[in-house]
Amino acid sequence: MVGDTIAAVATAIGEGGIGIVRVSGPDAKEVIQKVFLPRYGSSVDSWTSHTLHLGHVVHPDDGHVIDEVLCAWMAGPHSFTTEDVVEFHCHGGSVPVRETLNAVLRAGVRLAEPGEFARRAFLGGRLDLAQAEAIIGIIRSKTRDGLGAAVSQLEGQLSRRISKVRNEILAVLAHLEALIDFPEEDLPDITPERLSKDVQAIFMEIQRLLNRSQTGRVLQEGWRTVIAGRPNVGKSSLLNALLDEQRAIVTDIPGTTRDAIEEFIEIGGIPLRLVDTAGIRETEDLVEKIGVEKTREYMEKADLVLYVLDGSDELSNDDEELLRSLQERPSVVLVNKSDLAIRRLDEQQLRAVIGDKLIIYMSAKEGWGLEELAVQIRRLVYKDEAGNSLSIMDPTESRLDLITQARHREALERAQSHIRSVQSGLEMALSPDFLTIDLKAAWEALGEIIGETVGEDILDKIFSSFCIGK
Ligand code: GDP
Repeated sequence: MVGDTIAAVATAIGEGGIGIVRVSGPDAKEVIQKVFLPRYGSSVDSWTSHTLHLGHVVHPDDGHVIDEVLCAWMAGPHSFTTEDVVEFHCHGGSVPVRETLNAVLRAGVRLAEPGEFARRAFLGGRLDLAQAEAIIGIIRSKTRDGLGAAVSQLEGQLSRRISKVRNEILAVLAHLEALIDFPEEDLPDITPERLSKDVQAIFMEIQRLLNRSQTGRVLQEGWRTVIAGRPNVGKSSLLNALLDEQRAIVTDIPGTTRDAIEEFIEIGGIPLRLVDTAGIRETEDLVEKIGVEKTREYMEKADLVLYVLDGSDELSNDDEELLRSLQERPSVVLVNKSDLAIRRLDEQQLRAVIGDKLIIYMSAKEGWGLEELAVQIRRLVYKDEAGNSLSIMDPTESRLDLITQARHREALERAQSHIRSVQSGLEMALSPDFLTIDLKAAWEALGEIIGETVGEDILDKIFSSFCIGK
């Protein structure tokens, strides 16, 4: 239990089916007694935990009825915060919700800070820090896969992995300390070879987690994607086909889609933040070169490039130049207008420029080729940094211990660099005392991820990014 009792509106403000006022802390029961009149008369003392009760919220000063509500009672420690929690499920309008909150505050509790409920869940030991952060990941997830990654983090998948590595570090520490304590003794289990093998295993485990951080970041934040290509090849049509609604104006005149449209779409479970480069092209007779340079600039800033060609037209010099600049970056070459009988695009010439990059034949007009594009984008995302595919390509299987947060990645990198120091220390046969310093530092860095070794300042920073009521 952490001090006082707090309250806040837990649902989004505005009109909805219901709006919830949430209360947590030692006085939660007292709040019910002061502001809730149950329809069927029973007192809160006789309520079983985790039950719902119909009744009215009334103002504690004069008893006037504010709203008819359902009151949910969840006794600690088996509640979200581990404290006594009550929720008033009001009618979902800003006034009933606001007036209910006012009544609750009037009953003597304090307005919660942003993220304070989740913080109490963390302090109460109900969630570790990575799990608490997963709540925000769930709320802000943009696609099915992003949600899957956040939910598995909430379930503790990542935390278990981190704890496992920390335990392995502790085991090595114990061995080193045995060497320090009994320097004269021959400890057959603790050879330098064995130690380096264990340390190498720890290093690799951290590396495996880091390898997945790119994928995690994409699922969380979306991939900044540029649809590039010469005017009139069908970029806007592709965008529209992807958006499935007409957001860009498609015309027969080259370069008439003017505005750079940034849209957010989901394709194959992957969130893409689309920038339509059709929009950066000026109309008619502006020098072609400006367009090419601008396009390249955009392409360089993007995480993913979808380069569109018109299959009924030849490859131009601009195309060659832009395609060459794609090199190793994640990109897909799309040959559009493949529904047309005329095929002027020379595939051999294209191959010579793009090497073994995948080509997808498609028709934005008729809407085919998009599924293959989705599969290919998933392939590009579900890859570790060495380019190996991660196991889950199946869209229904998105539960992965991915690193979705920059904070976690940074802590892993720090832990790994300490482990690297331990490795070089072992090679130089440094005294065990030196090695333990770095091992402990690595153990602590990993502890920051799950919140075992973090200061108040970091907690403040994390929980203040939550919304009020969470
Ligand atoms: P952008 O300038 O690259 O954005 O090209 P648009 O999307 O505006 O398309 C230019 C023209 O090509 C329009 O008349 C489209 O209807 C046509 N178009 C786009 N995609 C296809 C396709 O897959 N097949 C055919 N036959 N026409 C297409």
